Amino acid sequence: MNKAYEVVIIGGGPAGVSAGIYTARARLSSLLIEKESIGGLIVNAELVENYPGFPGGISGYDLTQLMEQQATKFGLETLTTEVTGIELNGEQKIVKTNEGDFIAKAVVIASGSERTKLGIPGEKEFTGKGVSYCAICDAVFFTDQTVAVAGGGNAAISEALQLSKYASRVIVIHRRQELRATRILQEKAFAEPKIEFLWNTVVEEIEGEDVVKRLRLRNVGTGEKSSLDVAGIFVSTGFKPNTDYLKRILPLDATGHIITNEKMETEIPGIFAAGDVRSSSIRQVIAAAGDGATAAIYAERFITK
Ligand SMILES: Cc1cc2nc3c(=O)[nH]c(=O)nc-3n(C[C@H](O)[C@H](O)[C@H](O)COP(=O)(O)OP(=O)(O)OC[C@H]3O[C@@H](n4cnc5c(N)ncnc54)[C@H](O)[C@@H]3O)c2cc1C
Repeated sequence: MNKAYEVVIIGGGPAGVSAGIYTARARLSSLLIEKESIGGLIVNAELVENYPGFPGGISGYDLTQLMEQQATKFGLETLTTEVTGIELNGEQKIVKTNEGDFIAKAVVIASGSERTKLGIPGEKEFTGKGVSYCAICDAVFFTDQTVAVAGGGNAAISEALQLSKYASRVIVIHRRQELRATRILQEKAFAEPKIEFLWNTVVEEIEGEDVVKRLRLRNVGTGEKSSLDVAGIFVSTGFKPNTDYLKRILPLDATGHIITNEKMETEIPGIFAAGDVRSSSIRQVIAAAGDGATAAIYAERFITK
């Protein structure tokens, strides 16, 4: 049976949960649908130092637990299932999921992004056997071993710092000559003796037997090929927006992000987007939370107008 809500929120990261705090507190019947567990990407951050209110920093996991408690306190309902599409029936929005359809007056899309894959031989075969996409989940399995991190942005350097607590050596493999991560993260990484850098280098193949044993590398400047013995590789080379399920309904920008105005409105009245899934997002928790609040406030105005 179709169940009706005033607002359905897709995604339980900081953007979706913040939207839920606002809509539930505004006494709108609200359902948040999350395909995994509430928290989103920030659960991968060992320490969040740039979200206001926590002068000593807070782990990403603890931050999302607090956000969830706050939202459910105001009556936000949550459901664990994947949203597979949105359809329109006049002014009604039908949110399609693996657990059936949900009817909404307004929808907030906050489905964030997921890590891109390297797309090289061995990556799929050794996922879970030395290839990982989450240091906070898997770093402990590499205690006293040599591991690589592919990437050079904020997420990659956060992963390298997390790994340095367990591994004996962490080799950051980056296709450019300098990191894209913020200076504060760079300073921490350069000061950590266990972290080394291989510049202008890409991973071309991951080899092993039952588990990862070595990487085949190429220097993008000289073309020189080499190999590196490692027990694991953490892939953190970028993110792609979770918008595949929306392709037929909403226009997306060239990178697949949802285009909104400053009210978080999409082209379809009553459908809003917030957080990392949105075009031009700065991809930070504070921005995701702000987007979620903005979307919720304009969703409330849309419903009550
Ligand atoms: C290692 C790491 C460290 C970071 N450190 C920081 C930091 O220190 N400070 C900071 O501000 N930011 C940091 N970030 C960035 C921050 O995590 C993101 O900007 C933030 O999580 C974006 O929130 P969001 O709600 O927009 O999306 P997400 O957090 O990506 O949440 C989206 C949610 O939607 C769900 N979802 C996706 N598709 C569907 C679907 N079809 N149906 C149902 N659910 C779906 C996903 O499972 C996910 O839970 C870090 C990121 C990483 C990876």
